[in-house]
Amino acid sequence: PAPLGLHLRAVALAAGHVAVEAADVTESHRLARVRRDFVANVSHELKTPIGALQLLSEALLDATELAGDGAAEPNEDLVAARRFAERIHHESHRMGRLVSELLELSRLQGAEPLPTPEPVSLDWVIAEVVDRTRTTASAKNIDVTYEGPKGATVWGTDSQVATAVSNLVENAVAYSPEGTTVRLTVRQADEWVDIDVTDQGIGISPQDLDRIFERFYRADQARSRATGGTGLGLAIVKHIATNHGGRVDVSSVLGGGSTFTLRLPAQPLEAPLPLPPALAP
Ligand code: ADP
Repeated sequence: PAPLGLHLRAVALAAGHVAVEAADVTESHRLARVRRDFVANVSHELKTPIGALQLLSEALLDATELAGDGAAEPNEDLVAARRFAERIHHESHRMGRLVSELLELSRLQGAEPLPTPEPVSLDWVIAEVVDRTRTTASAKNIDVTYEGPKGATVWGTDSQVATAVSNLVENAVAYSPEGTTVRLTVRQADEWVDIDVTDQGIGISPQDLDRIFERFYRADQARSRATGGTGLGLAIVKHIATNHGGRVDVSSVLGGGSTFTLRLPAQPLEAPLPLPPALAP
């Protein structure tokens, strides 16, 4: 056996190690909170000036339209001014989306428990999502269809489930060509409900698949397309899924469409699970 002195030192070292690790965890939690609060505060402060820019750009658009009305010769300066106003309008709306998604994400990362979870009607969620995405889908002549049981429910927060599903459907519409179909399917299997969003869009390459749930990550072909995305939508979906004790998965073929599956608990979870079972390949 080791001499007593040595043995004691080993224990003391081990205890010291544990104490140092505990301090590290506390420090990294503190830093994470500071970062979250900073992002939340900055985003909040940016909302007012961005709102003002949006309104002013709309006024500018109206003004340049009126001034151009009835003119026999198009005034070049006016045409340029209108083009700039359109750009300011577009960018200020993109900034607005970015700021509200950053706020949403920092709220979700706050690791607070779900606001009083309850049964969420998927009929309501689907109706809400179809309603929210109607304008963008019909602008591209894309049909959003639904298949699944009536009256299915998941356990969680209705607004968050609706946000997650509509982010997936918005992406499906954004990354699909005109005239295609986006299919929403609900499947219930014991304690889990799977919500599939399938598109006939541009698809995702294998090397991008691993990274699309990261904040601000956008695949090359998406970056080069003017979809007006922020790169935060899927990070939000992933947080909502894990906050609910669920998960989100994707299968995709570049050029051949994608299916995103959101798996949420059907009933309250008995004990927090590390991760729900993986989907069948
Ligand atoms: P974005 O605002 O760019 O859409 P997201 O976080 O929602 O941000 O998505 C991240 C990236 O994942 C997108 O930029 C795009 O490259 C890819 N992506 C997401 N959904 C789809 C889809 N349905 N089809 C093809 N690519 C997708």
